[in-house]
Amino acid sequence: MNEKMWEAVKDFHGHQCPGLAIGYKVCEALFDLYPFLVSRAKDEELVCICENDSCAVDAIQVLTGCTFGKGNFLYEPNGKHVYSFYLRERGESVRFYVNIEDCKRETKAETLEVVMNTPFSEIVSKGEVKKDFPAYARIFNSIKCSNCGEYVAEGFLVESENGLVCKECK
Ligand SMILES: [Zn+2]
Ligand SMILES: [Zn+2]
Repeated sequence: MNEKMWEAVKDFHGHQCPGLAIGYKVCEALFDLYPFLVSRAKDEELVCICENDSCAVDAIQVLTGCTFGKGNFLYEPNGKHVYSFYLRERGESVRFYVNIEDCKRETKAETLEVVMNTPFSEIVSKGEVKKDFPAYARIFNSIKCSNCGEYVAEGFLVESENGLVCKECK
């Protein structure tokens, strides 16, 4: 990878930090395995499941094109530096685990230096995904809340004595 990519990641995230560098390293490991993914996912052909919500996930979103908004970036709160990628068309998947503990130093700046200067193969371990392919992003019909009159995605409405209402009106 290159300076331009790191700049893009920093711009999006707002600062540089060890967490961001971890996400960057995960992407290096991914692109080493599947070089064509450098062109970023346009839709749901690539899906990422992140098991933490650290700074790292911003680098993942920028570099892979798996984004929260497209629905191909899913968050599973397990508190682990685990990042699983699913390539739908190929039917292939890969799980990356990052050990950041060995890179930790006195200050964040030092830790960042260490992470950036360590080859990805030394901190990112590749493994097999144990879970099935995630479902495609859902698209809901909208229904009017019978209290405030605002449209709500079906499936998010709740029963009340006034009929189906949004969660804010419950
Ligand atoms: Zn950060
Ligand atoms: Zn309402």
